[in-house]
Amino acid sequence: MVRDNLARIRETIARSARQAGRNPEAVKLVAVSKTVGTDLILEAVQAGQVLFGENYLQEAADKMTRLPALLQWHFIGHLQSNKARQAAELFDVIETVDRWKVAAALDNHARLLDKPLSIFLQVNIGREPQKSGVLPEQAEQLLRRIAGETSLRILGLMTMPPYSPDPEQSRPYFSALRQLALRLASYDLFASNTEVELSMGMSSDYAVAIEEGATLVRVGTALFGQRQA
Ligand SMILES: *Cc1c(COP(=O)(O)O)cnc(C)c1O
Repeated sequence: MVRDNLARIRETIARSARQAGRNPEAVKLVAVSKTVGTDLILEAVQAGQVLFGENYLQEAADKMTRLPALLQWHFIGHLQSNKARQAAELFDVIETVDRWKVAAALDNHARLLDKPLSIFLQVNIGREPQKSGVLPEQAEQLLRRIAGETSLRILGLMTMPPYSPDPEQSRPYFSALRQLALRLASYDLFASNTEVELSMGMSSDYAVAIEEGATLVRVGTALFGQRQA
């Protein structure tokens, strides 16, 4: 089942990229495996998936010890600065940095571990009060500080638009994130300003996200099936 789902998702990624005149290779799939057991994760690994995303540190730590060491892990959950050490130890990329305190703590622990750590800035592009993420108008200030005062590699921007069952409702938010990234790239604030990463799009709307420039899509349900509550 996972193998078939993965094949279908890869096809959709390639088709959406081509439709938008983009190189399909420029879009990476983050397999979101929160609440998913290692048996299903291994099915994805056997079908060639290397990159996974997890939301909860303890759950991720438990699963990682039972999975091949060559996998790549992105943290996509809410991060508190008192958990920065564990996050820096376990993950290659932290996609959910949205305030200075968290960035400073991650940088501190990455230095102690002598580990190059990459991050995304999470942007609350829909300005939802209950959602994490820096507000769009505060992104520049936060990015300038992280770029100026830490060794973190800032790969790009990540967002979760307001939930809607209709993927077209997400399109203006994806477009807005891309516009923001383009503007910030002109100030030389990213690890690579010519290839700023955009992590956007989930099971319901990743095709639209790719049309709007996503370089990473984070897909869980469409790959592993419905999550248990
Ligand atoms: C759970 C989660 C996803 C995946 O969502 P699906 O709808 O299952 O594809 C993507 N991004 C984040 C931040 C998540 O928490």
